[in-house]
Amino acid sequence: MKAMLLNRLHSRLEWTELRDPQPEAHEIRVKVLACGVCRTDLHVVDGELPDPKLPIIPGHEIVGRIDAIGSSVQDLAIGERVGIPWLGHTDGTCRYCLMQRENLCEHPLFTGYTRNGGYATMAVADARFAFPLGEVGTDIALAPLLCAGLIGWRSLVIAGDAKKIGFYGFGAAAHILAQVARWQGRQVYAFTRPGDKTTQAFALSLGAVWAGGSDEPPPELLDAAIVFAPVGALIPDALRAVVKGGRVVCAGIHMSDIPAFPYSILWEERQLLSVANLTRQDGLDFLRIAPQVGISVKTQVYPLQQANEALGDLRAGRFEGAAVLIP
Ligand SMILES: [Zn+2]
Ligand SMILES: [Zn+2]
Repeated sequence: MKAMLLNRLHSRLEWTELRDPQPEAHEIRVKVLACGVCRTDLHVVDGELPDPKLPIIPGHEIVGRIDAIGSSVQDLAIGERVGIPWLGHTDGTCRYCLMQRENLCEHPLFTGYTRNGGYATMAVADARFAFPLGEVGTDIALAPLLCAGLIGWRSLVIAGDAKKIGFYGFGAAAHILAQVARWQGRQVYAFTRPGDKTTQAFALSLGAVWAGGSDEPPPELLDAAIVFAPVGALIPDALRAVVKGGRVVCAGIHMSDIPAFPYSILWEERQLLSVANLTRQDGLDFLRIAPQVGISVKTQVYPLQQANEALGDLRAGRFEGAAVLIP
């Protein structure tokens, strides 16, 4: 198979020929049809996450078709289209797994970080962590749902029953979740990089009731805010933007340091929370409601060999929506 391989941190991915992977008894192998590009992939390349497996094939928004299957896999079949997300494996036995919080497992494997991902023509996954996708929807449009959609969904659930909800950072996740939130009857307030009128117009086109720079206060206080951007300096702004008792949810896996802030903006029972990973139940819940919402996913498509360009464009904010690689 061919893959875009990260051999060393802080370096470009390299187009590499590798031996075709063979699935173990509990695994499936897919022919990759599309793989989304997530900000987490940049954090892996930049060495901002501890202990990556190296060399590693990044990519954890994989849409693929099963072409080989392990002997003990029962619920999936050759030819089936599946999605392979970030959570690639859990031990099933630790205290978190036993309390239905497998997203916090003590011994997890993560696709494209500690096990090989989907920037490749083939990928192998633990069958228990793959989602059947059926045949509705294109490979390209489904790929970003598998992390941006799914972990965004978990963030939205954790934000609670907020009528007015702010999104700080309006990229792949927020553009999907804005549509979900609107479908749920919420009002979305979109915060972009200051002066980014293009992204503000994009947010309004998806139904946001207000869009402005992250340096601006919203026109009225919000019930909750989700911080998608990896920018710790946004946290005090978001706390100031929510009502008493309001929640601020950090949706990313990595964030720059949060500056010191006065206790008064947290007091009055405001809550600051983070979201880590996903559970398989999150995936099932989200993939069930996504077709009902009729999410329109805006994608920027690149050939697999241009993964470095896709990552560079994501870093620079050069496109709206989500980047997707096609082998
Ligand atoms: Zn566990
Ligand atoms: Zn991701």
